[in-house]
Amino acid sequence: MKKILLIVIDGLGDEPISQLKNQTPLEAAKTPNLDFLAKNGICGLVLPFQFPEKPASDISHLALFGYDPKKYYLGRGPYEATGIGLKLLKGDVALRVNFATVNENLKVIDRRAGRIEKTQNLIKTLSQIKINGIKFLIKKSYGHRAVLVLRGKNISWAVTDGDPQKVGERAKKIFPKNKAAKFTAKILNEFLEKAHQILKNHPFNKERERVGLFPANYLLFRGAGEIREIPKFNEKYGLRACCIAGGALYKGIGKILGMDLIKVKGANGLPNTNLKGKIQAAKRALKNYDFVFLHIKAADSLAEDGNFLGKKDFIEKLDKNLELILKLKDVLIVVTGDHSTCSILKRHCKIPIPILISGTERDKIEKFSEKECKKGKFGKIKQIDLMKKILKYAK
Ligand code: ZN
Repeated sequence: MKKILLIVIDGLGDEPISQLKNQTPLEAAKTPNLDFLAKNGICGLVLPFQFPEKPASDISHLALFGYDPKKYYLGRGPYEATGIGLKLLKGDVALRVNFATVNENLKVIDRRAGRIEKTQNLIKTLSQIKINGIKFLIKKSYGHRAVLVLRGKNISWAVTDGDPQKVGERAKKIFPKNKAAKFTAKILNEFLEKAHQILKNHPFNKERERVGLFPANYLLFRGAGEIREIPKFNEKYGLRACCIAGGALYKGIGKILGMDLIKVKGANGLPNTNLKGKIQAAKRALKNYDFVFLHIKAADSLAEDGNFLGKKDFIEKLDKNLELILKLKDVLIVVTGDHSTCSILKRHCKIPIPILISGTERDKIEKFSEKECKKGKFGKIKQIDLMKKILKYAK
């Protein structure tokens, strides 16, 4: 059986863009190495799990690994918390947090406070908040992201999100989804109010405002959940697996599925991530593991910012570094995304995701792109069925 290297380029697919001569960022990018892999394999399209709805990264990854999200999805919070190294205890409730900017009416001006990165001081001040004997552990993730963990009695994960997901809308109150979650919703709303008062008056934010940057004056919550045992990847497939990622969410998903996390210096989930280091690490890991999951984040974030040129350039930069793995023997290389992200819409979208499987039979595709993959021999496949198919090709 061949070893498997799965490279997930987050938000890979896109729409044709007039400024790119009606090509998508992937199509417009010069990608000799991805094209080489495509030539030495077969191509196709993947339908994200939530097709035809707007897909989410965490759910898409579960489906990609062959885990039915309806059965195994824990919520965004627990994955992010695990990914940044927080050890969740049974009964803890974890939420994903965005540092964001709101106006005086709590209308969202920027969902990521200008993609702020230095949130350490703000987090330190927020860590002092205590309400009704519940501990609030707030910890920095990468970029504008953070995680909030509630620890204490009578708390529940069954609460709604505060993040309206749209600029121009009011940040939402947290509501209980059932009676048992009433107390949790109440203290979360109190926490939000206290945090807002602290953040908007914080000298660090005053200074950001003074120099024309978005102040990180609000917290947007989403994805409350709690930890639970789920079948491990190596039990399910009999493959020793590892995960190489910069983004906390992806590390968390890998870890919860029982994959070993491989640390790479400078892998940060941002456009300036250490691509070379990640790919070298993947190459090395193939000696000890049967399945290597390599996650590349920034294509998605750049598209979410509407930066289609940045997405194209980032794909080119990744492509250059792929040279290191072109000549691997007895390795099946799979390159795909978790979902597409449309740069013009600035959000995840339902466009099918291109995929190449290199190191197996061949078709006639010579360029890795949405358009070409449509003609590939691999055809269209539902994301949840993909793992089974990959294993077949590896045999
Ligand atoms: Zn994603």
